[in-house]
Amino acid sequence: MPSTTSSHARTVADVGEFGIIADIVRDLSMPPAVATGPGDDSAVFLVNGSAVMSTDMLVEGVHFRRDWSSGTEIGRKAVAVNAADLEAMGVTPLVMNVGLGVPGDLPVQWVHDVATGLRAEADAAGLTLVGGDTTSARDVTLCVTVIGQTEGREPVPRSGARAGDVVACRGRLGWAAAGLAALGRGFRSPRAAVDSQRVPLVPYGAGRQAARAGATAMIDVSDGLIADLGHIADASDVRIDLRSDAFELPDPVRAVAAATGKDPLGFVLTGGEDHALAATFPAGAVPDGWVEVGAVAETDGTAPGVTVDGAAWSGEGGWEHFRA
Ligand SMILES: [Mg+2]
Repeated sequence: MPSTTSSHARTVADVGEFGIIADIVRDLSMPPAVATGPGDDSAVFLVNGSAVMSTDMLVEGVHFRRDWSSGTEIGRKAVAVNAADLEAMGVTPLVMNVGLGVPGDLPVQWVHDVATGLRAEADAAGLTLVGGDTTSARDVTLCVTVIGQTEGREPVPRSGARAGDVVACRGRLGWAAAGLAALGRGFRSPRAAVDSQRVPLVPYGAGRQAARAGATAMIDVSDGLIADLGHIADASDVRIDLRSDAFELPDPVRAVAAATGKDPLGFVLTGGEDHALAATFPAGAVPDGWVEVGAVAETDGTAPGVTVDGAAWSGEGGWEHFRA
């Protein structure tokens, strides 16, 4: 899109669906595995091993606010949250489809920015945009579907954790929730935390690294570490105990906690939307860059679940606690 004054004033209704699609797919290059990309009725591509598919939607007012995040950031986040689900299976990202619903009076420049963000994060994640759909909608809605490939490895499920395994994490924890707490109080800082809320820093490649190292179960942290490890505990029928002293309390999280009178460990253990990875490994198999934070034990007749230092977490928690 030329960035002339008149183009800034143009709306989605002015350029129409085909204008939007042409902008989103402009100059896309297809890797050898993609025989047919955007422009036909369906995409055609080769998969090495099994195909692994996941979908996530972002809805304005529920998952993002246009006054808090730029179009570029929202486009990046829509891809990042999906790519994190492929990482959490330990598979290799391959292709993605994007569904975009936008009001007709939206500036076309904003949609251009979303497309820029979608494409930038797709490059970072190793995904190729091969198709999608656009429609008019009352609220901005993005629906991304990603497909990955197993390349001969078994995907890492949530159900494989066994007593004696260790729990380890990779990526940021608590940053996005701290950023949301800051934004919710009208602040734009600490910048690093606010930026994490706008676009999660997914540890790309770490999911495959964990799979190669023999991870027995894995998940991406979307709802908060305790809540998401709870899904592993349930699916694996085990108990998981976290050691509170194993967690770093990053400066931006400490700053927000101090300003809001909250416990920084609460952000780290229960803050959502960072899309870090949490996994269980046989003892001694934790790969480089992962931080060991706890252990897996039998349920011994109790319900599966997650404890911190041997007790139920009684601090602040749950990502809903931090909802705007
Ligand atoms: Mg997930």
